[in-house]
Amino acid sequence: MSVLRFDNVSKRYSGGKDALSEVSFEVGAGEMLFITGHSGAGKSTLLRLIHLSERPSRGTVLFGNQNLMKVRGRRVALHRREVGVVFQDHRLLADRSVADNVGLPLVLRGERRDGIGKRVRSLLERVGLGDRANALPAQLSAGEQQRVGIARAIIAEPRLLVADEPTGNLDPTLSAEIMTLFESLPEHGTSVMIASHDLALVKRMKKRVLVLDHGRLLDDISPEDLAE
Ligand code: ADP
Ligand code: ADP
Repeated sequence: MSVLRFDNVSKRYSGGKDALSEVSFEVGAGEMLFITGHSGAGKSTLLRLIHLSERPSRGTVLFGNQNLMKVRGRRVALHRREVGVVFQDHRLLADRSVADNVGLPLVLRGERRDGIGKRVRSLLERVGLGDRANALPAQLSAGEQQRVGIARAIIAEPRLLVADEPTGNLDPTLSAEIMTLFESLPEHGTSVMIASHDLALVKRMKKRVLVLDHGRLLDDISPEDLAE
């Protein structure tokens, strides 16, 4: 079953050249893949088209069997419940505890408070932050902050997680820990797409890799092809 499909998708920002040109690919349920390419290649743009912070200029993006072109207005928020987003700078609320940050998506959709507390505690254990629930983000290390960002993105069990340079601010050891966490998501039913320009890291992971170059999909490399 396909979670996501791009059909000949192009994106041109007003006044610019094509940030994406005729990009086509498909992501299966439970798949994890990387998007790589030079700065300006179109990685962030591709992810923005998935969580609907941008719209394609041409072509079609299908999420499950839904054409995202037709998702407008209030339905955008409903769509975003199905797509977890992780940013390089994690964007945590500075004045809220770790537990409150992680539980926020559930609060926003009106879930019961006692149920939320339980789910948050269990997820914080899973991401190795069981003892940091009451800390403020500023009291955490960079790696811990990013794990909070990931926990917030997956608490509502999205069908797809998209991450834009999630290890951009982390050293290699912490990056590896974060990748281990991402790798555990498909077994929980969430497909994962990670944009990264860190080629060494991407190669080590031995997952499928989409290579963007000036907005074009230059290559779609399967894990088998990556094996040395
Ligand atoms: P990457 O994430 O691979 O660095 P981006 O998707 O951010 O690439 O950018 C792709 C191209 O689109 C670049 O040429 C960039 O300058 C341009 N671009 C990105 N965002 C905008 C924007 N909001 N307005 C205009 N041009 C943009
Ligand atoms: P980046 O610099 O990481 O590419 P941008 O600054 O382009 O990110 O912003 C990404 C977009 O994601 C913004 O338009 C923002 O409104 C949107 N956004 C922020 N949080 C979420 C979320 N939880 N789900 C979906 N979209 C989000």
